[in-house]
Amino acid sequence: MSVRASDLKNNVYVAKQLALTVESGRVVHAFAFIGGSAEDRAEIGSWLAQYLLCSSPDQGPCGECLSCRKFAHQNHEDFIRIGKQDGKESIVKDQILELIDRLSFKPFGGRYAVLIEDAQLMNAVTQNKLLKTLEEPVSEAVMILLSETADGLLPTVLSRCSCYYLESSEADTFGKDADAARAYAKLIAEGAPFYRKKAELADIISDKDGGRARALAFLDVLEDELRKDAVAGAGRGAGNTDRQTNAIRQAELCRRYLKQLHSVGFTLKHMCLRV
Ligand SMILES: [Zn+2]
Repeated sequence: MSVRASDLKNNVYVAKQLALTVESGRVVHAFAFIGGSAEDRAEIGSWLAQYLLCSSPDQGPCGECLSCRKFAHQNHEDFIRIGKQDGKESIVKDQILELIDRLSFKPFGGRYAVLIEDAQLMNAVTQNKLLKTLEEPVSEAVMILLSETADGLLPTVLSRCSCYYLESSEADTFGKDADAARAYAKLIAEGAPFYRKKAELADIISDKDGGRARALAFLDVLEDELRKDAVAGAGRGAGNTDRQTNAIRQAELCRRYLKQLHSVGFTLKHMCLRV
């Protein structure tokens, strides 16, 4: 079964941003996930690794292709997981040297996905070894670093990565936005004015970093609600569903604009005016 960004337990917005990156085909050579809980970092890190290896991705790994099945059985040839070994306190230099050696061979499929857990456990010497691969990236390898804090990584390492800061409270933001989407669906049903609908979106519009991903998640919930309302409205007779049908169309248009990287504020306000 496919695992889409919205199916993750936490960090749905970060995952949605990642999905935009992966689907656009402009994948960077290194990602760093910093902060949050160890469980959150592991979840999003391995989700991204599986996504990058999947042969028919659609907003996430498909879960069905050969690559996804190998990943699930933990025997994917191109997935390399590095963590602290039993009895050791840190990730040691030899582990990184082994990695560099392995990356000098072609991957089995399209690319390697390398997940480095507890990257903050590498000392400066080890991180400098890793830095070489980050500075002269092998085209077929994507590195994913998980770290408890940003301080645990050398600035030179961080600067080579596309960094995502995880928040443990993010699940709450998602819940709050889902509530706003439900409230918005009610306002549509009532035919409420522009300013009341815009108020439900103010928080997302003012979020400079996560606004786009949050807006996409908002639209997902909104559309679900509208479809439910349309079905209920159809039961009450003709005419009740027109508002919802029009709103679903506008929400889809809005989603397309967001994916084409139109301004988040402009796109959402435009939707408030139309529905
Ligand atoms: Zn797949």
